[in-house]
Amino acid sequence: MQFVNLAAQQDRISEKIEAGIKTVLSHGKYIMGPEVGELEGRLAEYAGVEYAVGCASGTDALLLSLMANDIGSGDAVFTTPFTFIATAEVISLLGATPVFVDIDPVTFNLDPAKLKLAIKAVCENEPQIYPLPNGYETLVPRCVIAVDLFGLPANYAAIGKIATDYEMIVIQDGAQSFGGQFAGKMSCSQGDIACTSFFPAKPLGCYGDGGMCFTNDAGIKDILTSLRVHGKGGHKYDNVRIGINGRLDTLQAAVLLAKFEIFPEEVELRQKVAERYSELLPKLNLNLVSPSVSDGYKSAWAQYSILAENSDHRTKLQSGLKESNIPTAVYYPRPLHLQSAFSSLGYKQQAFPVSEDCSTRIFSLPMHPYLSSKDQASIVEVISNFID
Ligand SMILES: *Cc1c(COP(=O)(O)O)cnc(C)c1O
Repeated sequence: MQFVNLAAQQDRISEKIEAGIKTVLSHGKYIMGPEVGELEGRLAEYAGVEYAVGCASGTDALLLSLMANDIGSGDAVFTTPFTFIATAEVISLLGATPVFVDIDPVTFNLDPAKLKLAIKAVCENEPQIYPLPNGYETLVPRCVIAVDLFGLPANYAAIGKIATDYEMIVIQDGAQSFGGQFAGKMSCSQGDIACTSFFPAKPLGCYGDGGMCFTNDAGIKDILTSLRVHGKGGHKYDNVRIGINGRLDTLQAAVLLAKFEIFPEEVELRQKVAERYSELLPKLNLNLVSPSVSDGYKSAWAQYSILAENSDHRTKLQSGLKESNIPTAVYYPRPLHLQSAFSSLGYKQQAFPVSEDCSTRIFSLPMHPYLSSKDQASIVEVISNFID
């Protein structure tokens, strides 16, 4: 059994993918070919935003979004420690400071009540209010990067209100949530800029690296478009700002155009797979917590992640599943504030207890649109053997 089955998808659309690649090979516009603009148009329409700007990865999408807002030294960027390193890495790369905010234990996403406390702590220079990183004395709150973990959008209503109160911008890290929804609107239409990733294992993945920024702001779109090509002005050799080489490859855009044709259907198939897990697992009466999706939210189900009782219980379940050739994964085994890369921030163990607790108990089951009910039944069967 596979954790993510990309071959099943390829079998369905291999002719379209190959035709798309062949077209690129024949026109030869490997850099910023027509497929890039076509994909940007389609995905902007799907997400329900005015503009989409393709780029080289989800990480670059986040980096470009911060750069487009002149985030740098002295700026506090609030985000969750329970995410992939890329979310916070880009903040430090620009010389800004990640200020971590613990998660909600049910959604695994940024907890708006704690966000408010963390902002207040920065404004009042008071780490007693909320744990703050080294150098907090000189920080100015500028931005929130909310992450839609496992495909479930964060609470953008609450986060947006707090950001408005403090005149901060909101960046949506929708790397895992493309295809999901919040309050009846598609994922990647939330915040001031939204970012997604086309890493192969994401809900909409290409065959390499790729990413995209989404915004309704024409000025920001123009800056993103300039930044991704070395800060170009009127033409390539007119450089008006410091940028990066952050373009989306034409070949990857061609692959994505073929995959996008069946993407909405795949999002629905993921709903069915998740529903089956959520129906079968609670019947076991094991001490496992299945994900729950509140009214007004739709998850893109990048992952189906459950909480074991504790770390030993997780180890037992994971090794039992492995013996039956059922792969599992842990996202994420160590929260970012405890990673060596961020040791200079000086955060202590227990600073973010919910993230730390989840990191010892969480694991993800196989999840992809083509997971059969038969395979799911056997996964649940193996798990049921752990009832003593
Ligand atoms: C995958 C991911 C990224 C980075 O995307 P890449 O395309 O791999 O650079 C950023 N944030 C989150 C939450 C992710 O899951």
